[in-house]
Amino acid sequence: VVAEELQINEVIKEVLMFLDSSLLYSRIKLDLQLDEYLPPVISDRMQLQQVFLNIINNAIDAIGKDGLISIMTHTIAGDIRVVIQDNGPGIDEAILPHIFEPFYTTKETGKGTGLGLSITYGLIKRLGGDITVRTHIGQGTAFTITIPLHSENY
Ligand code: ADP
Ligand code: MG
Repeated sequence: VVAEELQINEVIKEVLMFLDSSLLYSRIKLDLQLDEYLPPVISDRMQLQQVFLNIINNAIDAIGKDGLISIMTHTIAGDIRVVIQDNGPGIDEAILPHIFEPFYTTKETGKGTGLGLSITYGLIKRLGGDITVRTHIGQGTAFTITIPLHSENY
């Protein structure tokens, strides 16, 4: 773990730059609502990149083509909140309890390892944060990531 002062908005933009060709290829629209007054956090850049990458990649997979991904950042009660929302098919209630389990995937063989969300959950918990999901069938899915401004881990 490498602790440094980070701007979460910058970390999100780094991940989006990395995903640029996938987003273009899938003709996905991005709606960015990044709070420009977001305070910096002390955290690990690569681990946070991993977190955002996993969730945005899942959104790209879920939408297929011509969808919309909204990413919002804001400060709330001493924490930073990042909401990553897609307008994909949503997650069935039979599947939802399992999505953070290691090796759980609904993707065809070779397309998914089922490790993304389990790794993401572990990383965010170790950074002192939290991740929750809200989903509506036919409407989409939103992951909310909470990152403490003052983590006891650093
Ligand atoms: P993988 O992407 O390799 O399947 P993940 O741990 O990243 O593994 O995700 C687990 C499962 O959670 C996915 O296979 C999918 O069924 C579901 N899932 C995750 N994100 C979304 C999303 N944005 N929309 C719909 N389903 C999702
Ligand atoms: Mg994944």
